Amino acid sequence: MTPASTANAPYVARDLAHIWHPCTQMKDHEREMPMIPIRRGEGVWLEDFGGRRYLDAVSSWWVNLFGHANPRINDAVRAQLERLEHVILAGFTHEAIIELSEALTSLAPQGLTRCFYADNGSAAVEVAVKMSFHYWRNVGRAQKRRFVTLSNSYHGETLGALAVGNVELYKSVYRPLLMDVITVPSPDCFDREPGESWADHSRRKFADMESALARHAHEVAAVIVEPLVQCAGGMRMYDPVYLAMLREACDRHEVHLIADEIAVGFGRTGTMFACEQAGIRPDLMCLSKGLTGGYLPLSVVMTPEPLFAAFYDEYTRLNAFLHSHSYTGNALACAAARATLGIFREDRVIERNRELAVHLGERVRALADHPHVAEVRQCGMIAAVELARDKATREPYPWQERRGLIVYRHGLERGALLRPIGNVVYFMPPYVITPEEIDFMVDVAREGIEQATRA
Ligand SMILES: *Cc1c(COP(=O)(O)O)cnc(C)c1O
Repeated sequence: MTPASTANAPYVARDLAHIWHPCTQMKDHEREMPMIPIRRGEGVWLEDFGGRRYLDAVSSWWVNLFGHANPRINDAVRAQLERLEHVILAGFTHEAIIELSEALTSLAPQGLTRCFYADNGSAAVEVAVKMSFHYWRNVGRAQKRRFVTLSNSYHGETLGALAVGNVELYKSVYRPLLMDVITVPSPDCFDREPGESWADHSRRKFADMESALARHAHEVAAVIVEPLVQCAGGMRMYDPVYLAMLREACDRHEVHLIADEIAVGFGRTGTMFACEQAGIRPDLMCLSKGLTGGYLPLSVVMTPEPLFAAFYDEYTRLNAFLHSHSYTGNALACAAARATLGIFREDRVIERNRELAVHLGERVRALADHPHVAEVRQCGMIAAVELARDKATREPYPWQERRGLIVYRHGLERGALLRPIGNVVYFMPPYVITPEEIDFMVDVAREGIEQATRA
C-alpha cells in the first residue's frame, strides 16, 4: 500500500460499510475500482486524505463551472446562510430566488419569462413532461399526450425521465415500468458517411423526425432533445441546423419543443445556452447541473408566457400545475446560483472559454492519429475521444472488456479524474482550468489510452 492509500483506508472501510454509491456495481470496489475519499477541493483539484491530488476533468459529473471552493460562491452561500437557509416556496418567496429568476430570464433565449424550480435535473425533466402534457389538456387537446425522443438520448433516471431517455444500460431493466414513447434516430454525427459534413448529416437525419411528426403530431405533446451534445450517450454531437429544423417543424405540427440543457447549458458548448447556436427558443428549457456552479442541487424549467397562461385560472377549474418538492427554491442553492450567474456577468467567461476550447481542441486533436482512436470530436468545452478496436470500420471494443476502466485507473494513478463512458474518453473540465492543466489532463489521457488499447 502506498502512504496515500494508508491514510485513505479507514474512510474507505467506513464508507463501504454503509454507503450504496450511484451508478456503481459495488462489487467493483473489492478490486477494480479504488474508493477515493476526498478531504478538500480547490479550483480544478480534489485532494484525498493522503494528500494526493486529482484534476477534476469531469467537473464532478458536469456540475462544477468555476472550481471547487470558489471564493465568490463560498461568500455568497455563507452570507445567505446567515440570513435564511430555506423557506417554503408555496405562498412565500425570498430575495435570492427573485434575483436569480430575473437574472435567468434576462440570460435565456428571449421570451422564456417563467421559472418553475425543482431540485435536480431528472425532476426538471419530470416537470417539463408533466407541464407539456397538462398544457394540452388545459387547452382542450387532451389527445396530445405522447413524447418524441431521440435514440441514445439521456434525460435522467426517475421513471418519467428514464422513459423519455434512450440509453439502454440505464433503461432496459425498468422498461415494464415506463410509459411508451416515440423514438426517432439521433442525428449523431459519429454515424455520418465518409466525406459528409456534420450539417449535411444532421439535415439528412431530420427526415426521420419529420416523418414521425407527420404521422403522430395529433397525439404528441412534445419532442425532447439534448441540444447539440448527447452527453451521457457518449458525448455524441450534431449540428445546430437540426435544432433549427426541429423548431420549425414543432411550430408547424403544433408540438412543444423541450430543450434539456441540463448538461450543455451555462457556456459548455461555447454559447451560454446550446439553443442559441441554432437561434431558437424552446417552449420548455430544463436547466440544472451548472446552475449552482456545482454547489447545491437545484433545477429550473423555463417557459414563455403563453404556456404559463394556460394554467392561470379560477381555482375551482382545477387547472393549476400542482407539482412540488419540499426543497423547491432552496435559498442556499439559489444564492449559489445567483453568484454563479454573477461570475458570468462580471468575468469574460464565454470569451475565455472560447480561447480555452481552442487550446483543448488542438491538444485533443493530436490523439486522432492513434491506431485505436476512431474519432476526436469537440463542442466548446466538451472534447471526446472515441476508442475502437478497428479504426477503419469503427468496430467498438466489446463493452465487457471495460477498456475505459483502464484509462480511469491510470488517471487516478497520475492525478486526474477521467471517467470514460464505455469506449469514449472525454474532457469536460471546470472553466477555471489553465492551458497548462489542459496539457496535463490530455497527456494523462493519452497515456491511459496507450495502456487501454494495448493488445
Ligand atoms: C444529468 C442529466 C440529467 C439528469 O440530471 P440529474 O440531476 O442527474 O437528475 C438530465 N438530462 C441531461 C441531459 C443530463 O445530462
